[in-house]
Amino acid sequence: MAESQIEFRNVSFRYQDDMPWVLNNVSFKIAANEWVAIIGHNGSGKSTIAKLTNGLLIPQEGEIYVDGQKVSAETVWDVRKSVGMVFQNPDNQFVGTTVRDDVAFGMENNGMPRDLMLERIEQSLSAVGMLGYERQEPHRLSGGQKQRVAIASVLAVSPKYIILDEATAMLDPKGRKEIMNTILEVQEQRNLSLVTITHDLLEVTQAERVLVMNEGEVWLEASPREVFEKQEQLQKIGLDTPFVTKLAEELKTAGFSFRREPLNHQELL
Ligand code: ADP
Repeated sequence: MAESQIEFRNVSFRYQDDMPWVLNNVSFKIAANEWVAIIGHNGSGKSTIAKLTNGLLIPQEGEIYVDGQKVSAETVWDVRKSVGMVFQNPDNQFVGTTVRDDVAFGMENNGMPRDLMLERIEQSLSAVGMLGYERQEPHRLSGGQKQRVAIASVLAVSPKYIILDEATAMLDPKGRKEIMNTILEVQEQRNLSLVTITHDLLEVTQAERVLVMNEGEVWLEASPREVFEKQEQLQKIGLDTPFVTKLAEELKTAGFSFRREPLNHQELL
């Protein structure tokens, strides 16, 4: 049986033949039901990783596998059933004129029977606390509500993996926390894997593993604790002291209470 995971195998990518490589020989795995945070300075290649994972981009070198299936132009529609993406700006993601149409879109593309589709719309909107908003226009919702609908649209397709590319960046801290809590609840219920590309330190501290990107390479792959311990090296790649100091503060604020018990990085400070 195919292994249940996302795997990047020696992936290199550039946007055009005459442009520099933006990813160089990147390899990593994301297992079922795991939460991995990807951090790194702007331009280090994080979003490119997200887009490669669900076939929005195809690498020139190396391979990407989703549950053992190589991501290619031929498999991209299958891959997108497994890998859902939520971006920073939900306005760019809406395709329907109503919330219901928007959530239905991915399922319609997959040719899902209508009864099942209606059931899924209800389940997904309920999971993100947006039942009752079916007839509303997505663009008229608040920032937090828009992100919830974007997440519902992804959940409706029942993916195994969800990639959140700075998905909470436009929200205030309260909104961010609410959305993350919603996502974590759904993750637990559905055994999803989460990949969060983020500058939010609380998200970093709560993830199980962190990939630190630097200039198109995986610079470090470690637990949040190990990332914290490498502060001097982090400074060298532009994730400097404020990052580390803030990380420590976030841990204190969070009362060192990590999501899963037991976690070996719980006694972090
Ligand atoms: P990050 O998400 O870490 O900020 P990106 O993956 O967005 O990094 O970008 C990596 C590099 O690729 C950057 O140098 C960026 O300028 C470049 N890049 C991103 N998107 C495009 C594009 N559509 N065309 C050309 N270059 C791009």
